[in-house]
Amino acid sequence: MDDSIKETLIDIVGRQNFTDSLIDLVSYSNDASDHYHRPEAAVWPASTEHISRILIIANKHCFPVIPRGAGTGLAGAAVPVYGGLVLDMCRMNRILDIRIADRLAVVQPGVVYNDLKKALAPYDFFFPPDPASGNVCTLGGNVATNAGGIRGAKYGVTKDYVMKLEVVLPNGLVMQTGSNCMKSASGYDLTRLFVGSEGTLGIITEITLKINPKPMAFKTGLALFSSLRDAGRAVSDIMHSGIIPSVLEVLDENTIKVLQDHSSVNLPDVTAIILVETDGYTRAETSFQMEKVIEIFRKNSAADVQIADSIEEADELWRIRKSISSIVAQIRPNNVSEDVAVPISMVPNLLTGISKIVRNHGLPFVVFGHAGDGNLHPKIMYDRSDPDQVKQLREVVTEIFKLTCDLGGTLSGEHGIGLAKAPYMTLEHDQTAIDVMHDIKRLFDPNNILNPGKMGLEV
Ligand SMILES: Cc1cc2nc3c(=O)[nH]c(=O)nc-3n(C[C@H](O)[C@H](O)[C@H](O)COP(=O)(O)OP(=O)(O)OC[C@H]3O[C@@H](n4cnc5c(N)ncnc54)[C@H](O)[C@@H]3O)c2cc1C
Repeated sequence: MDDSIKETLIDIVGRQNFTDSLIDLVSYSNDASDHYHRPEAAVWPASTEHISRILIIANKHCFPVIPRGAGTGLAGAAVPVYGGLVLDMCRMNRILDIRIADRLAVVQPGVVYNDLKKALAPYDFFFPPDPASGNVCTLGGNVATNAGGIRGAKYGVTKDYVMKLEVVLPNGLVMQTGSNCMKSASGYDLTRLFVGSEGTLGIITEITLKINPKPMAFKTGLALFSSLRDAGRAVSDIMHSGIIPSVLEVLDENTIKVLQDHSSVNLPDVTAIILVETDGYTRAETSFQMEKVIEIFRKNSAADVQIADSIEEADELWRIRKSISSIVAQIRPNNVSEDVAVPISMVPNLLTGISKIVRNHGLPFVVFGHAGDGNLHPKIMYDRSDPDQVKQLREVVTEIFKLTCDLGGTLSGEHGIGLAKAPYMTLEHDQTAIDVMHDIKRLFDPNNILNPGKMGLEV
């Protein structure tokens, strides 16, 4: 990127909102994954118009543009693999409208997930996806990765809530997709095309989200198992029993050990724990659901079932659950967090299969995740300065992806493909589907300027 281009960018965003200083560029070279590539410059745009003008220049001079939310992505999707310009969306962080009567909220992409959560709380409404990174990640990042969270089995993921988008295309044109209506059957679903597109098709500049009334009553418990397979079977049985818990999370014995050693929570020595929450509008409703769930736990040989005595106790459990990733990150210098998902009946096979694979390679690991929607997080710890451990890690990851696809699953339940999973796309998608994805990318971005190198979408 030559100086004249940099001067033009400065004209658009202002000198204080442009940087090419080494310290900033090093910060922008990584997200929460294990991938590092330095950009040539970064800007902090403040409007759709800024972004449109920037993309016109990028398209003319063919340099890469990488949109970035909070950089908490776990797949390297915001890493500037071919250098270029990072568009940090942090200044576009306003909640533009909350329309309770229409059950929607309109936000800029840089709004942090928890800021919307706080803004909706006084109305007793919420935006359900609830990623564990909610106190930092942005809604633009959530839409671009189709983020999920612990309430996915009952409430779905981000794509189930995006009604309308404003998007700037690589040629600078601004496009509106979707509608403010609860339903719409009007034309191709361009909104869905952009959800999970990881910044490869356009820059999202405004988001209209469906919001839900909050349930008023909750019941939280945990079930202890001496076998991972029994825990997996219990999950599968619950999910076709007619009851859909709002949370159904599994922790394997390694996760339990890590939490025993590194958190204040007091967990027993068992092989697996399932955390469960039922929700509704009355206590009777949540108790009824919990009783059914407990019955299924017992049928699947749960050693014990415990119910939280208070909201504080339950909140503490969810706080600890959400901190697992951060706790594990402190144990070894490097770790890789996968998020494979399988049809629910395959959860027992995935749980036991992952443990077997990683154990065979001798790397420390934990497995936890949103068992209720078939989405597990094997987190494998290693030291990237040790070539043998790097080799073992690659083998482990490949075997986990193969197992998942053999079980009819998907490479990513919620983190996206980015750089990390790009080489594995052909395990899951047939060649025709891959060709169509390439055609779509070419149609929107013929010069391949938007977040190039991601999702295996080289044109
Ligand atoms: C401790 C921890 C816990 C996590 N827990 C969860 C979890 O429970 N569930 C979950 O789904 N994920 C989780 N994640 C992963 C991550 O938080 C999500 O993927 C999140 O959606 C990324 O948001 P971000 O703002 O950090 O986006 P970034 O990482 O900055 O970017 C992610 C992708 O979005 C694109 N992008 C960002 N903004 C825009 C925009 N305006 N227009 C177009 N493209 C854009 C980027 O180019 C990139 O491709 C976790 C991560 C960490 C570190």
